[in-house]
Amino acid sequence: MIYKIHHLHCGTMCPACAPLVSQKGLKAHIICHCLLLETDRGLVLIDTGLGLQDYLHPQQRLGTLLHKFGKIENNPKLSAIHQIQELGLNPKDVQHIFVSHLDFDHAGGISDFPQATVHVLASEFNATQSLSFSNRIRYKTAQFKNHRFWNFIEHMQGESWFNLEKVSGLPLFQDEILMIPLLGHSAGHSGIAIKQEQGWILFCGDAYFSHLELDPKQKLKGLHVFESMLAHDNKMRLNNLKQLQYLAQQEPKIELICAHDIQEFLRYRPLS
Ligand SMILES: [Zn+2]
Repeated sequence: MIYKIHHLHCGTMCPACAPLVSQKGLKAHIICHCLLLETDRGLVLIDTGLGLQDYLHPQQRLGTLLHKFGKIENNPKLSAIHQIQELGLNPKDVQHIFVSHLDFDHAGGISDFPQATVHVLASEFNATQSLSFSNRIRYKTAQFKNHRFWNFIEHMQGESWFNLEKVSGLPLFQDEILMIPLLGHSAGHSGIAIKQEQGWILFCGDAYFSHLELDPKQKLKGLHVFESMLAHDNKMRLNNLKQLQYLAQQEPKIELICAHDIQEFLRYRPLS
């Protein structure tokens, strides 16, 4: 049973790439939008953004390259653990973490919740174990290599949900939280659907970066270059984007949100 959904802002990056992400000026303003659910199974995090240790030891955790070019705002108050405390909740009550994928800006908070079970697609975790150059830039395994409790979900199984396939529900949450494979951005990228009283929130992670992309008529050249550069499999990414565009146009009871769009975040609350 899900009682309440909080929207958390768990990181800010301002790299000099605004035109590439369809923003004005030079410096982009990219946030890490995460969700915190209060449930009858304790607290549940959907993505974790940057964690406390990333803010305290940015060089060691993220490396010089990211630290220098990512222009990450060094503000420990943005860590999910700090915000949970600010809400008057106990971080030790975080029992489950669902991650869209394990890129550094989504997995950083895992180490702040050693007691939680992390739910992730198996193909995503497997990709973090390969040492290719591009994987070494995107995955910072120090963020989660000591984590003990994992639930690896096979994306070859599962049922259909609207126009999407191979969806896994969790009996523990009476199918109110679903892992929805949206492969492409990374090897095992997944959306996470959360049931609301009326309809669903579909957290899409990095399956798209700007709400503008949900309208297929928009021409967003810079953004498409940027996203194909980051993509593990661009063909799959585009195919899944098409499915999300369909949902955005045809299913008004599904609220789509991605991880990095400020405009979407502001629909729920002001930036902290
Ligand atoms: Zn990201």
